[in-house]
Amino acid sequence: MTTTDLHTTAALIAADASAVAHADRVIAGLGLPTDGIAVGDPATGEQIAQIADIDVDGALQAVATADAAGRAWARTTPRQRADVLHAWHALLVEHTEDLAHLITREMGKPLAESRAEVKYGSDFVRWYAEEAVRPAGSFREAPDGGANILVRRAPVGLAVLITPWNFPLAMATRKIAPAIAAGCASVVKPASLTPLTTIYAVQLALQAGVPADLVQVVTTSSSSKFSEAVLRDSRVRKVSFTGSTEVGRTLMRLASDTVLRSSMELGGNAPFLVFDDADLERAIDGAFAAKLRNSGQSCIGANRYYVQEGIADAFAEGLAERFRQVAVGAGLGTGTTLGPLIDDRAVRQMRALTDDAVARGADLLAGGTELGDAGHFFAPTVLDNVPADSDIAGTEIFGPIAAIQRFTTEAEAIERANATEFGLAGYVFSESLDRALNVADRLETGILGINQGVPSNAAAPFGGVKQSGLGREGSAEGLEEYQSVRFYNIARRETR
Ligand code: NAD
Repeated sequence: MTTTDLHTTAALIAADASAVAHADRVIAGLGLPTDGIAVGDPATGEQIAQIADIDVDGALQAVATADAAGRAWARTTPRQRADVLHAWHALLVEHTEDLAHLITREMGKPLAESRAEVKYGSDFVRWYAEEAVRPAGSFREAPDGGANILVRRAPVGLAVLITPWNFPLAMATRKIAPAIAAGCASVVKPASLTPLTTIYAVQLALQAGVPADLVQVVTTSSSSKFSEAVLRDSRVRKVSFTGSTEVGRTLMRLASDTVLRSSMELGGNAPFLVFDDADLERAIDGAFAAKLRNSGQSCIGANRYYVQEGIADAFAEGLAERFRQVAVGAGLGTGTTLGPLIDDRAVRQMRALTDDAVARGADLLAGGTELGDAGHFFAPTVLDNVPADSDIAGTEIFGPIAAIQRFTTEAEAIERANATEFGLAGYVFSESLDRALNVADRLETGILGINQGVPSNAAAPFGGVKQSGLGREGSAEGLEEYQSVRFYNIARRETR
């Protein structure tokens, strides 16, 4: 039975005053300037803080300071690095509520999701505390017996870390923690839409015993001037960027001038394949989580649902039914399960994508409307029978719209799923192990969710293929991004 769309009748959930006060107490404790770049709350549009607008001279000063601290840090023992990371992890966990309120206040996601981000973000710190004491290396004998070869890893050097606004804690910790574990200093530039969480997390790192100068946070309104100056500085040896493919290309061009080691975590356009032999409820649960987490603003969020004809009606109606009942409102409100989008531009993008798809013949099963008078809200939306040539079928949506297309054969689904320059995440839902694994093998993505809508884990090597990026974050591979490989060829006097 189809129920009414809650979003046509219910008011948005308002923020709890006590939760807002909690967030604002944390902000007051950050010691921020009284003028600079304004930071807003996406649920209301109100200004909540101002942060320093650091110019190029200030950024280069941060490079100099971090570089000096990094030279000393490179000489610390693995155990010393592990100990400060363990202490930082403990403080992040202890301050879960402060961090979660701060994330929600500046970024908008529901408090429960912010708590999950604190868990996920702090997991990277613990993981790299554990990895720090396991420096990889190997010992080999040359095939002709004339040499012993010792392979070891050294800190890559000063790293510039540029992060996006959608996961303000996790995107920062999964770069800063491996840099510290590897023995590197860093200059971190958070997104100016959501800088407060990074500032707070780094303050906790200093409290945990990370040397004061080792991690420099640079907030700026001119990110292009920042990268042009800093990436060309010869003291910088590494850039790690998470954000859009377009900005990633620009940074790679800049990095080529100094042949800078680069890690690029870029945009996605994830296909989500549901086969007739999928467990329907499991597929709907996975589809729901893979789309609505973070209001759809996740690089691995499901972007193109391809559903096989035999299950498509039930899947589309089941997903729409779930979307109609989502509780939308301020992330700091009681019971909210979907928060606002980051800004008004994102709301306009949802409007345009929905209108284009409907004009081309898509069926609107749920949502499709802006919500509320203030803030940046768009109703959770399901579009079925989306034409392959509509804008939404070829765009990284980055919002709460599920766009469903139908397919007949496995081969067709794979071909359509791979018809994109992106290759970050893909999803396969099938109860057949043989089908799930064989389809996964043929999808051109770095990350595969198999009967699973939320595949991220600190122990997994997160990253994309094709134009979704270079390098990996998390896992042992994430540490290698901050290490240089060296070998010693040790002559042997006698061959065997
Ligand atoms: P964005 O590319 O606009 O910005 C990301 C960061 O880069 C921000 O800090 C921004 O200030 C900075 N920036 C922008 N131009 C710059 C320049 N010329 N020099 C230096 N820094 C610059 O992306 P966004 O809107 O913040 O984030 C959304 C995008 O990020 C989406 O495409 C999403 O898929 C992607 N993303 C990818 C991953 C991943 O791990 N692959 C994770 C999260 C987000």
